[in-house]
Amino acid sequence: SDPSALSGIRQQFPILDQEIHGHPLVYLDSAATSQKPQTVIDAESRFYEQDNAGVHRGAHELAARSTEAFEQARAKVARLVGADSTEGSEELVVTAGATAGLNLLTTAMGNASLGRGGTDARRFALQPGDEIVVSQAEHHSVLLPFQELAARTCATLKWLPLTEDGRIRTDVADQVITSRTRVVAVTHVGNVTGAITDIAPLVQRAHEVGALFVLDACQSVPHLAVDFHALDVDFAAFSAHKMYGPTGVGFLYGRRELLEALPPAQFGGSMVELAYLDRPAQYMAPPARFEAGTQPVAQAVAAGVAADWMLGVGMDRIEEHERAMTRALLGLADVPGVRILGPQETQGRIGTVAFEVEGVHPHDVGQYVDAQGIAIRVGHHCAQPVHRHFGVFASNRASTGVYNTVDEAEALIEAVRGVRAFFAR
Ligand code: PMP
Repeated sequence: SDPSALSGIRQQFPILDQEIHGHPLVYLDSAATSQKPQTVIDAESRFYEQDNAGVHRGAHELAARSTEAFEQARAKVARLVGADSTEGSEELVVTAGATAGLNLLTTAMGNASLGRGGTDARRFALQPGDEIVVSQAEHHSVLLPFQELAARTCATLKWLPLTEDGRIRTDVADQVITSRTRVVAVTHVGNVTGAITDIAPLVQRAHEVGALFVLDACQSVPHLAVDFHALDVDFAAFSAHKMYGPTGVGFLYGRRELLEALPPAQFGGSMVELAYLDRPAQYMAPPARFEAGTQPVAQAVAAGVAADWMLGVGMDRIEEHERAMTRALLGLADVPGVRILGPQETQGRIGTVAFEVEGVHPHDVGQYVDAQGIAIRVGHHCAQPVHRHFGVFASNRASTGVYNTVDEAEALIEAVRGVRAFFAR
């Protein structure tokens, strides 16, 4: 009945078919984690029912099938994000999630700064006086690993400021990104503001000064057609659980020649060609060099199914639906006392909409709408500096997935209309 709904999609998500406090569930918290279609849920259990074994070792049939499924999954996700996955040129490292991927990268860069990895790794080494550039819109998963890397190497952390409505300012790129900058790490889509970063000028400036460009693609991959090659980024991190896949798995993209030069960050089984007691080990080529220990194989396999599923729905349809949801949710601005923390126009943003209700604590707003079956997120969303920019400590955040409808956005807006009256009593 709702023309904005993607036909045939919602029914594929079993979790949505339930009532919360006597109301049909309205799930508007996909920026925290998305729900999973049946095909993804089935892929994980089917793997355990039929193929499960340790990968990359063992001569038995199940080990061969598991290895094949794991590598196929890497290839499927690579197809979604525009990365190479041909054998010997793989550009996606399996991680436990975006946070793990970003920590992998910063730890490896810290190791390079200590001289590990030899001359090839020098391009990742930081020295006192070097600069790392982030933005004020960053999730703590970007801010803190790079802040820690700066502390360990005596580098200086700088940041790109935001426009009044929360977009990363690219007009000051030339001043903030200088000849001392070694790495620029920026989010593709703000997890509070929903703003899409115009990364092209930042990538260009970073490369002009010889700096690496790292993209936080957590909030873009689920909503937009993303092609890391076309974007010309050097590294990118994202999590499967926000793109209709399982928890516990994510990916770090790295341009192949960079992955080949990057020293490892974690040490253990399955990442070494030769290990000795009295000599340093010889590490494997990427991606294995960065995948020490037993990997989340079942989860990676299901992440591959999620990537294929998204391509099956069609990124053009996903983007069109996102625009309709964004337009609908921005209707929150018409509710008296509501302020949107982010751009007010549909263009250049997605349907992740953070807002403040004047005089009402976000936890009260969250509970009030939850009583009507509506799930939104409240708090600082692991992004305190961007809240500081807006002069608040916390906010409410509605965010969308392929299964949402404009009717649901309107149900939230109706509920928020009731909030102030209720708490003013
Ligand atoms: N960056 C952004 C923009 C995010 O929204 C998130 C997840 N909230 C992360 C990084 C971290 O992802 P994860 O918790 O899956 O490691």
